[in-house]
Amino acid sequence: METQSKMIEITKTKNSRINEVDFDNLSFGKVCSDHMMICDYKDGKWGTPQVLPYGPMPMEPSSKVFHYGQAVFEGMKAFKDEDGKVWLFRPEQNFNRINISAKRLAIPEFPKEYFFEALETILKLDKDWIKPGKGNSLYIRPFVIGTENGVSASPSSEYRFIIICCPAKAYYSSPVKVTIAQQYSRSADGGVGFAKAAGNYAAQFYPTNLAKEKGYQQVIWTDANTHEYLEECGTMNVFFRVGDKLLTAPTNDRILDGITRKSIIALAEDDGVEVEVRRVAVKEIVEAAKNGELKEVFGAGTAATIVPFLGFDFNEEYYELPKVENSYGSKFKTKLQDIQYNMAEDKFDWRYEV
Ligand code: PMP
Repeated sequence: METQSKMIEITKTKNSRINEVDFDNLSFGKVCSDHMMICDYKDGKWGTPQVLPYGPMPMEPSSKVFHYGQAVFEGMKAFKDEDGKVWLFRPEQNFNRINISAKRLAIPEFPKEYFFEALETILKLDKDWIKPGKGNSLYIRPFVIGTENGVSASPSSEYRFIIICCPAKAYYSSPVKVTIAQQYSRSADGGVGFAKAAGNYAAQFYPTNLAKEKGYQQVIWTDANTHEYLEECGTMNVFFRVGDKLLTAPTNDRILDGITRKSIIALAEDDGVEVEVRRVAVKEIVEAAKNGELKEVFGAGTAATIVPFLGFDFNEEYYELPKVENSYGSKFKTKLQDIQYNMAEDKFDWRYEV
C-alpha cells in the first residue's frame, strides 16, 4: 500500500478498530475510521499536515471555538465500486466551499494540495472501512476550528484543520414528514446561511425539536423577512415537482450552494426535465398540493442523497403527497448513485478516483 507522502507526516495505527464495527447496523456518524488528519495554523501559516490514529485531542477550555463558534465544516462521501476502487464525488466543490465558509468566519483558507493529499492518504489507509454496494459509503467530515486560547471576542490567531471519516449507510431509512417554518428562521440576508458554519446547525436544533414534538422530522426554512418563500430543509436543499417541472430555490447568501442540488439540476436538464431555479412561494406549493399539481417534494444532500417527503404541514394543516409513478426523486437518485458507484458513464466528469 502506497502511503508515503512528501507533504504529510503519517503515523499508522497499531490497533485497527475495524473488527469491532457492525457495518450492517451503523448509526450515522457514531463510529470513526482508524485515521484522521490534523493540520495547525500558527504564526500566519499552515504547518505540516499529519495523518495519525483517530483519537481524542487535548484543548484548553479558553479555546476560542468554544466561546465564539469560529468553526466551519464540510460533508462529503467516498464510495467503493464492485472492483474495489474508491471514488470521491466532485471533491473540488467541497474544497472550494470550505474555503468560502472559512472566509466568511475570518478563518484562513486551507491549501488545496494539503486537502487532497490528506484525503487520499486517509482513504488509502482506511479503504477497508468503505464497503461496496449502493447506500454504503465513508462519510468524510473536514472541519476547521479556532484554537487560540483566550476568551477575548476577536478572531483566533491559531486554527486546526481536521479530517475525520465515518462509515455510513443511508441517512434516512424512510420518507420524512416536514413542517414549513413560520416563526423561526435559519438565516438572514447578509448573514452566514451560505456557509457551513457550525452555529447555523446549533440554531436549527431548537425549532427542529419543536417540529419533532409535532411529528415532523424536519423544517423547511422560509426566508427570514416574510416567511413566504421556501428555502432549504435541515441539511438538504429542496425540490418541488409541480406537474412535470422541477422547482428549486436559487442559492443566495441565506442558502447553502449544495453539490447534490447542482448535480440534480444537471441530471434533470440532461434528461429533458424542465428545471425552474427561482423563488418558490409557500402559497404556490400549498395551492399545487390542493389542486393535485404537486407530485413530489424531495430533499437533496450528501448525507441523505435524495429523500422523498411524505407530506408537509403548513398552518396546522397537513398536506399528504400523492404516490407517483416515474418519481423524479427515485430516478435522479439512481442516476446520481450510478455515477457515484462507477456503474454508469461519467459524462459530467464528477468522479474522482482515489
Ligand atoms: N443545505 C444545508 C444547510 C446543508 O448543511 C447541506 C449539507 N451539506 C445541504 C444543503 C446539501 O449540500 P450538499 O449537497 O453539498 O451536501
